[in-house]
Amino acid sequence: MPVASANAHAIRGAIARLNDPNCSRFASQIRHTGGCRQPIHLRGKVEHWDRATGTLLHRYSTRLEPDGVLRVPCKTRRASRCPACAETYRADTYHLIRAGLIGGKGVPTSVTAHPCLFVTLTAPSFGPVHTRRQHNGSVLPCHPRRDAEPCPHGRVLSCTARHGADDDCLGEPLCPDCYDYTGSVLFNAVAPLLWKRFADALRRHLAKLGGLTLRNMRDQLVVSFAKVAEYQRRGVVHLHAVIRLDGPAGPISQPPAWATLDLLSQAVQHAVSVVTAKTPAHDGHPERVLRWGAQLDTRPITMDGELTDQAVAG
Ligand SMILES: [Zn+2]
Ligand SMILES: [Zn+2]
Ligand SMILES: [Zn+2]
Repeated sequence: MPVASANAHAIRGAIARLNDPNCSRFASQIRHTGGCRQPIHLRGKVEHWDRATGTLLHRYSTRLEPDGVLRVPCKTRRASRCPACAETYRADTYHLIRAGLIGGKGVPTSVTAHPCLFVTLTAPSFGPVHTRRQHNGSVLPCHPRRDAEPCPHGRVLSCTARHGADDDCLGEPLCPDCYDYTGSVLFNAVAPLLWKRFADALRRHLAKLGGLTLRNMRDQLVVSFAKVAEYQRRGVVHLHAVIRLDGPAGPISQPPAWATLDLLSQAVQHAVSVVTAKTPAHDGHPERVLRWGAQLDTRPITMDGELTDQAVAG
């Protein structure tokens, strides 16, 4: 926050906090929330009794905490609400789906050699939004358009600001009146259907590339999926998925030699570009055809976790 906009009340509050004998406990709570922007304040007590003897073993009450509350992170996955938690949760997400695919018990380590991609499927653009973009560690201007004409609402759809990670405007449209909110809501609604169609198209295209019918492919190959939906800053859904090629008996069997990582990656790109979902006309809104955005991210991953960090960074 720039100093100029910090009001006297906030400054008095900060000074009082620093002089509070409980300040270090407060700081430790804040550290434990991982920089959460909107920590949840818990109030209450926990008592542990020894049933046999009836003695109190341990008592914890939030009354003794700073302000009488225990702060825990909000754990939101929406970066617009809390960038810190969304970032933490994104890493969690990756490990979650990775673990889901590895399966743990009964899954042989040979599965780590199967062709495997970490794929991010995004929504199309519904109009420019304020974004924080970085290149080689420096923040780039948000949406610079030198000769941008004003939109029908009189706004120039250009923003040269280099936004901070905490800027409230992140994810907000440059012109709320131009932004296609309807489209973004409809997209979120059809995303599960688009995913299903993507998975079907992927199988069909793999079969085609292998010169097989879909039915015959089942005797050689199955496609294993694990996916998680997340909200981007602009409030639109995107999907992370791990897609792996297994043999006919699943992770315990080898996929055929023709089913390579390259082939999988080709099939993913094809499937993403061809599937659509239609929403019917209603309330004066016309029928719409929605599809995945052009921004597709696919990264090969190894199930022994070698590329974990790169995969999460996207
Ligand atoms: Zn948070
Ligand atoms: Zn901006
Ligand atoms: Zn406009």
